Amino acid sequence: MDEFSFINSIKPSTYRQSSMIKGIGDDAAVIRESAEDIVTAVDVFVENVHFSRETMNPFHIGYRALAANLSDMAAMGATPTYYLVGAVVPKNWSSGELHEIFKGMRHLADKYAVDLIGGDTVSGSELTFSITVFGKVRKDKARYRSAARPGDIVFVTGTLGDSQAGFHILTNNQQSESNSYFIKKHRMPTPQIEFANALGGINRLSLNDISDGLANEAREIAEASKVTINLLDEAIPTSSNLNQFSLSLQHQWKYFGGEDFELMGTVAEGEWARVEETAEKTNTLITKVGNVTLNEHDKHGEVYLFQGVKKQVLKKEGYTHLK
Ligand code: ADP
Ligand code: MG
Repeated sequence: MDEFSFINSIKPSTYRQSSMIKGIGDDAAVIRESAEDIVTAVDVFVENVHFSRETMNPFHIGYRALAANLSDMAAMGATPTYYLVGAVVPKNWSSGELHEIFKGMRHLADKYAVDLIGGDTVSGSELTFSITVFGKVRKDKARYRSAARPGDIVFVTGTLGDSQAGFHILTNNQQSESNSYFIKKHRMPTPQIEFANALGGINRLSLNDISDGLANEAREIAEASKVTINLLDEAIPTSSNLNQFSLSLQHQWKYFGGEDFELMGTVAEGEWARVEETAEKTNTLITKVGNVTLNEHDKHGEVYLFQGVKKQVLKKEGYTHLK
């Protein structure tokens, strides 16, 4: 199949976003927005760096790639609206597999009425996708990492470490009925869009999505806000089945595993009840995991982990490219 018939085959037959004027089929897409702020982000996924055929079906590859992008929108408090996909396709991927990848993306996009409005398709040596996502957020309501203040509560959604547990199970051939939960969390994570959007009424909120592990995400907020974040080990929510793994693996996955695409955030103590209400309304698990302080000697943002009476600096250890 050539590029043109491929593009034709992934072209949506209808679009859901009312601001869409021109979708796939011209030199560029056209959107008309007026009152809201536009939020945009791009992520690149390379075979054998970000995903592999060993642990994912093509459908999951597409689903998870778009989930990572939509999760960035959630972390900004934005509602996703559009996405564009740049694809570099090598010869060893069939058009059927390629379709499955786009089907995986569409499956998730349909859930949030996000429209595919363009992209580029070229051949090359390594399967690579670049997904650009657009979203909208009420004027001046984007949720920045720099918004944490001393006295804030630190919270996370969901349970942490599940995705890495799933990856471990898949790569160590430990698949079983009781482990299918972790595999699903690895292959088909849910971006926390509804919850993040429903927090729209809250005045000040810092948010980050957990793509590189809680330790990293907490540090990004601490640094951007110039505050100290204190995390309480015993408060970190995990799935009960996670305790089948060694304590050191659990620790590694909880703080450095990432790819759970849950949210972490900070909010004033006085707004916590509203956050809890919102979580209940959107059927989201949220847990208070620490607090924000201002320590004179950590002017550049530090993250501490409290385990019983032990206090240690939580270093960043997630995966860093170009290192
Ligand atoms: P041009 O030569 O003007 O760049 P293309 O032939 O690359 O046009 O693309 C034609 C149309 O198909 C454009 O609207 C483009 O956005 C869309 N398109 C191409 N590849 C993809 C893709 N991988 N995903 C979504 N849309 C695509
Ligand atoms: Mg092109």
